[in-house]
Amino acid sequence: MSIVEEIKCPHCGAPIQFEPGEIIATCKYCGFTVVIETGQAFNFEHSMLLNKYDPAQIEEPIRDWMRSGFIKPSDLARKSKLIEKNLTYVPFWIVEVEAETTYKGIFERITPAVVKEGRIEKEYDWLVLAREATEFPTREYDVPLEGKIPYDFRKIEGFAKTLNSEIDKDEAVSLAKQQIEEHHRYLAQQDVDRIIEIKNNIKVSQTVYLHAPIWFIKYEYKGKTYQLIIDGSTGTAIKGDIPSTGFGIL
Ligand SMILES: [Zn+2]
Repeated sequence: MSIVEEIKCPHCGAPIQFEPGEIIATCKYCGFTVVIETGQAFNFEHSMLLNKYDPAQIEEPIRDWMRSGFIKPSDLARKSKLIEKNLTYVPFWIVEVEAETTYKGIFERITPAVVKEGRIEKEYDWLVLAREATEFPTREYDVPLEGKIPYDFRKIEGFAKTLNSEIDKDEAVSLAKQQIEEHHRYLAQQDVDRIIEIKNNIKVSQTVYLHAPIWFIKYEYKGKTYQLIIDGSTGTAIKGDIPSTGFGIL
């Protein structure tokens, strides 16, 4: 069990609970967001995405996912039992950047090998998970930013859980830069066989703190437990475990 600590909300005076390692916390009574270490208000944009489902309604996108695709067992939707349906508002940082990478490398696929130069220019709303230990497939989550609204605690359902941030803004920006550089290195490697030189210029225009409604589902199929993660604002499956269809040796 984790130790829960408390500070007093600077806005409404209610207790705000947080766990060790959390850096930014939101009051569940008034929505005030505070930097725990200083007790000061969080000064950056805090947004959220709205959840469209209650625990009964979420079954529809779950069954839809189970029925879709060719690699799933054909009786998956019929035979599965849902054993957990939890809605959690997961914190992310969205780092808006313009990224430019120039590189020089050796192209060895022709003889003789030649030196080749290239340039990658992209704009991103780069998503960084604001939790250290939470397992989440961040790169597979196509966050529907068009639905983003200012954070409103009244929109958080009573049955939902809200996680605080364990990563501050500066750390989020440096993680985003690091991940983008890795991604661009990967892209450059599709173009040249050996990189001799690579330079990145990443300009950050804005950083937004965002809570996104994520459904964590556990289901049972033929005696085994599997997980499924669904975006509560669109009903899209972000990632799901698929039981093997049992072809081959039984
Ligand atoms: Zn408060």
